Amino acid sequence: MPAPIESLLPDLHEDTQLVHAGTLRSQFGETSEALFLTQGHIYENAEQCEARFLGEESGFIYARFSNPTVAMFEKRMAAFEGAGAARATATGMAAVTAALSGLLRAGDHVVAAQALFGSCRYVIEEHLPRFGVDSTLVNGTDLAAWQAAIRPNTKVFFLESPANPTLEVIDIEAVAKLAKSIGAKLVVDNVFATPLWQKPLALGADCVVYSATKHIDGQGRCLGGVILASNEFIQTHIHTFLRQTGPAMSPFNAWVLLKALETLPLRIRRQTRTASILADWLADQGQVRKLIYPGRADHPQAEIVRRQMGGPSTLIALELEGGKAAAFRFLNALKIFRISNNLGDAKSLAVHPATTTHQRFTPEARADMGIGDGLVRLSVGLEHPGDLRADLTRALATV
Ligand SMILES: *Cc1c(COP(=O)(O)O)cnc(C)c1O
Repeated sequence: MPAPIESLLPDLHEDTQLVHAGTLRSQFGETSEALFLTQGHIYENAEQCEARFLGEESGFIYARFSNPTVAMFEKRMAAFEGAGAARATATGMAAVTAALSGLLRAGDHVVAAQALFGSCRYVIEEHLPRFGVDSTLVNGTDLAAWQAAIRPNTKVFFLESPANPTLEVIDIEAVAKLAKSIGAKLVVDNVFATPLWQKPLALGADCVVYSATKHIDGQGRCLGGVILASNEFIQTHIHTFLRQTGPAMSPFNAWVLLKALETLPLRIRRQTRTASILADWLADQGQVRKLIYPGRADHPQAEIVRRQMGGPSTLIALELEGGKAAAFRFLNALKIFRISNNLGDAKSLAVHPATTTHQRFTPEARADMGIGDGLVRLSVGLEHPGDLRADLTRALATV
């Protein structure tokens, strides 16, 4: 049974939606969302079973494509994003791969921003070409470069903003307009922004993908992904691909992620506030050659940040004087920030992109993306800002 609050939700605030949207209560009237660990469902009779398969009767069939706990997570995410529909996947990469696979066929062409999460670049540069889909990577911040890359068979634009790990920001509205003008679809990987700070669909994107592994879980437990778009887009391009190929989210993970959405605004607002404080402080430290943070006036795309984001970021990029050696000394001296490639976690994390997430690129390709040997990415957690600043102070003293 959908909860009685459901009809009010479109007019309620996000914080309220994230506690209540999508809740389905069983006959037991449980307070907390139930975890339906079931592969399938029992039908009253053969006629009902036939009607479910024909789509004439709504209801659950098989957990590869429909499960009550996963459906609650999908509905809550759709309410949060302001999307017509959502589909959950096993991982963020399953969401990216499914969105692109659902949209593209042999002979098509994709234009993507070059500053992408490494696995997204693999899918676009190496996986899609095996199936006859060409791609062009551009400097995503340069609208003329997107324009110049267009071919008659360009069907999809793909971007990430802010990008990993440089936090460069792309004008989503402008790229969406360009995509629309040639009949291409814009897919945005919105992991770094989170739906709290950026709503790409409202800016004109056709489809948004997330790794729910990051801020949505926010406590380092489960992998997950989600694809959001209009209901028509999901039905036309995504639903059948997911149903038939099976990169489904487990109901257990959906339950963890669903409960995590209840506290997401609290966590992200607090983590963002701490990150802003630390970014301003870090920018004044002599060992920091360059600091990139979307909330600062000196961010290269500060004007776009103001226009398209409701808040800046839980992540900070800083370039240390002294290259890799200095970055390693800094990382090894941290005691509260832990070295990990994950992000969006309650625990503060730090990583050296050049030797980890972006290791497989040539130094030239890394330079093109703005990833120097002294670059460190910080993911700011829920610890006390004073303790984190003391940790950074100790580590900077070694640089
Ligand atoms: C982590 C990440 C992904 C992939 O998500 P997984 O859940 O690890 O598969 C995709 N895009 C971005 C920007 C990410 O940070």
